[in-house]
Amino acid sequence: MYINGQWIEAKDKKKFSVLNPANGKVIAQVPDGGEAEAIMAVAAADKAFPIWSSRTAYKRSSFLYDAHRLMMEDLESLAQIMTEEQGKPIQSARNEVRYGADFLLWFAEEVKRIYGRTISSSRSDQRFIVIKQPVGVVAAITPWNYPMSMITRKVAPALAAGCTIVLKPAEATPICAMEIFKLLEKAGLPKGVANLVTALDPEPVGRVFTTDKRIQKLTFTGSTDIGKMLAREAAGQMKRISLELGGHAPFIVCKDADPIRAAKGLSLVKFLNTGQACISPNRIYVHSTMKESFLKMLKEKVDLMIPGNGMTPGVKIGPLVNEAEIEKVNSQVKDAVNHGATLVTGGFRIIDNELDKGYFYAPTILDNVTKEMRIYREETFGPVAPVITYEDEDDLLKMANDTDYGLAAYVYTKSYSTAMKFFEGLNFGIIGINDINPTSAAAPFGGMKMSGIGREGAFEGIEEYLETKSGGFSLNT
Ligand code: NAP
Repeated sequence: MYINGQWIEAKDKKKFSVLNPANGKVIAQVPDGGEAEAIMAVAAADKAFPIWSSRTAYKRSSFLYDAHRLMMEDLESLAQIMTEEQGKPIQSARNEVRYGADFLLWFAEEVKRIYGRTISSSRSDQRFIVIKQPVGVVAAITPWNYPMSMITRKVAPALAAGCTIVLKPAEATPICAMEIFKLLEKAGLPKGVANLVTALDPEPVGRVFTTDKRIQKLTFTGSTDIGKMLAREAAGQMKRISLELGGHAPFIVCKDADPIRAAKGLSLVKFLNTGQACISPNRIYVHSTMKESFLKMLKEKVDLMIPGNGMTPGVKIGPLVNEAEIEKVNSQVKDAVNHGATLVTGGFRIIDNELDKGYFYAPTILDNVTKEMRIYREETFGPVAPVITYEDEDDLLKMANDTDYGLAAYVYTKSYSTAMKFFEGLNFGIIGINDINPTSAAAPFGGMKMSGIGREGAFEGIEEYLETKSGGFSLNT
């Protein structure tokens, strides 16, 4: 763990094992921290806050530029570590390192644009001045699916804003987190400004994060259930919260769209990270007249996807994170088939070529999916593409919005007015119009409804770590 500028063991020397999900082998033992270490880390961040927050924006920027450069220099080794620990194919891991580094660069630039403003008063002897100040000590909790970029997406804006931070990564990917913190250390971050607590049991650390009065802000990326629980606990002290939670993205192929292009797009976005992405399409709406050509192209693409260890050249489908995820995905597929869905391809755990030692699930296409099936409502964190046939385009918007989630949505159409109708009418925070990658460090990322509160990336990302202070100045002294 990295606390107060030192790499330390857990107080009682306890450790936990980290596994490679492609073969089940132990790759490392990392410190198993808990309440005591979380409190130490909060104390360090609290002490460092006045020093870090009083640095100029230019100094904080320069640190983030250095961290970005170091991350890009280490791209290959970081990608290899990620593939070994999280499982994604090496090319995807490289892309994630670049995406993660982008947040360091973006906020190195954005930190210089934290502006206040002056406001006219109705009184001639009065001026209003508004300034932005860092919220204080931030606690952050991150997931395993994007184990480096989800960290920089929080750490970079927090540090840019002048906050100090304590972060707990997912138990499945603490090594990726350690690598990011090594970079921050190498970039010369003063001690206590960023602290890392690794833990097998997240609860004691989470409790410190939601109840320690020195923490002003909690930022969380993960499942909606845990996000709601943390928000409830944090409400006790009215902490500021940002929540990036689950999703259930509709992927709409309008009647005027090119079904081949849409199928190619879907095959890329759906199976990215083996479907373990919060913005992964979960309901694919295809008009009955084009379903055959759409499914044919999709199946062709999916059948070419080679599952395996992400370090093997040509592999496109990595493992799921653990046994529980295999069971969850499989039970959703079984439930759909039992309720009348048709398996176009896949639908089983892969156990040949020694893949039985890892957590591999065949890329799967389900046709004739309906509302009655669990998969229509539950987030699927796996390589399953559920296709729903529609007849009437007028109902599409209503169907797509019929979910508690509101993170990402995708629309394929050739009509400008249809695109605008969906862009404006979909209750989701991120919309891809004929586009499967509507995300960037420069664009706000976040969800509506049960998909969360707040935005990451863009200028909105830094706002999450700032308080607004308004001053009324009388000219009469
Ligand atoms: P998760 O179970 O909610 O875990 C996320 C993080 O919360 C992990 O660090 C986890 O630690 C921690 N955690 C779990 N229980 C906790 C508790 N009681 N107190 C404090 N911390 C606790 O989610 P996941 O399965 O790792 O990640 C997948 C979910 O994240 C999906 O729903 C996905 O959609 C969502 N996600 C959302 C975004 C977004 O930007 N909206 C991005 C990526 C993922 P442990 O690992 O030790 O359990």
